[in-house]
Amino acid sequence: MAVPSSEKPLVRVVVAGHVDHGKSTLIGRIRHDICALAGAAALDGSVGGNWAFSMDQLQEERERLMTIDTTQTFLETPTTRIVFIDVPGHQELIQNMITGATRADHAVLVLAADEGVQVQTRRHALVLSLIGVRGVVVVTNKMDAVNFAEAAFRELESAIVGHLAELGIEAYAVIPAVALAGDNVLQRSLAMPWFDGPTLMEVLADLEPVTHDEGAARFPVQDVYERDDERIVVGRLLAGRIAEGDVLKAMPHAAALRVLEVRRFPADHLPASAGESVGLILGGGATERGVVLASPEDLPMVADRIAARVFWLAEQPLAVGESLTLRCATQDVPVAVASIGERMETVELGPLPASDRLAAMELATVEVRADRPIVFEPFARVAGLGRFVLERDGLPVGFGVVPGGAR
Ligand code: GDP
Repeated sequence: MAVPSSEKPLVRVVVAGHVDHGKSTLIGRIRHDICALAGAAALDGSVGGNWAFSMDQLQEERERLMTIDTTQTFLETPTTRIVFIDVPGHQELIQNMITGATRADHAVLVLAADEGVQVQTRRHALVLSLIGVRGVVVVTNKMDAVNFAEAAFRELESAIVGHLAELGIEAYAVIPAVALAGDNVLQRSLAMPWFDGPTLMEVLADLEPVTHDEGAARFPVQDVYERDDERIVVGRLLAGRIAEGDVLKAMPHAAALRVLEVRRFPADHLPASAGESVGLILGGGATERGVVLASPEDLPMVADRIAARVFWLAEQPLAVGESLTLRCATQDVPVAVASIGERMETVELGPLPASDRLAAMELATVEVRADRPIVFEPFARVAGLGRFVLERDGLPVGFGVVPGGAR
């Protein structure tokens, strides 16, 4: 029996790749083919409505200064709802991916067969690895421009699989395609009978959402609303679960608070699960924006220094000694740059000579010092507490990822 769409889990797929390699064309082709399929099913009266497609704005938690227009296109498969995130502009895509304005579980990396691996292909792959996307589907597009030749495809396949492996990313599949005509998108290509792998839609239909329900609770407080005699503490649960009766520690100061009520609409008193935005009524003391509520048996890190991998985006370089604002989850903390070590350029991923400056599109291990404690965690444990934005004069200029192991 068909699963109602409201009960299908949401899978977020970011579409990345070098400019003009065919990202928008590919999404347009999927839309076209799905609509044609739905139309044909309606005509012959068969039950073919398992796939559906719509363009919409997903209610996303956006970074304060991120006003980038992201098109989100929904595709309904028999078991999931996929949202494609297509960000026009290369720098904007990198910004969105690193700040978490675009949360992605998986990625489709589009590569034009006639141009191969280019600068932005490499940078996007690097950013995908930084934000913890461990698997991608590669679409080798524009196969018509290389006469559908298997040899050209195999060469590209080994180049991209090798490059991704260096970054710790697995290619679930590498698919030779023609986005313009639809080859190997929904329909198997007649022009490439030598390819016996899956079509793009077959791979997409098998993708599963990434959940963070297991492990310790992490709830960055976004706001506290005072209504009548009540104080409702609102935020989004990044990891774990929170149930009524739980005791949580308010980090960084570690005061113990009890969850009296999980507030959502309509009220059902069920535990909050990872990814959910809820209100909490707490007993035992006051709390405020920036505090992170956490399970007492497994607390996040608290320190006034963080060493992280920083990707710099602004024209004006970062310099040792500079003062910036660090934003991590709901925390806003003034910091100073204590050191810049191990610089790397982001095309070939080669090392750069030591310097006390970091220029646009360079990556380095940067240590920042704050005058108050910051609550954070390795990115691999809790993404939302393991990445931060650096702001200069209110504008995002750099993005950091905290290294370290998973749970
Ligand atoms: P984006 O910048 O990655 O979104 O690229 P677009 O989707 O805008 O495509 C860039 C150009 O490549 C456009 O002129 C498309 O018509 C063309 N294009 C896209 N897919 C194909 C394809 O499969 N074959 C050929 N020959 N051209 C394509």
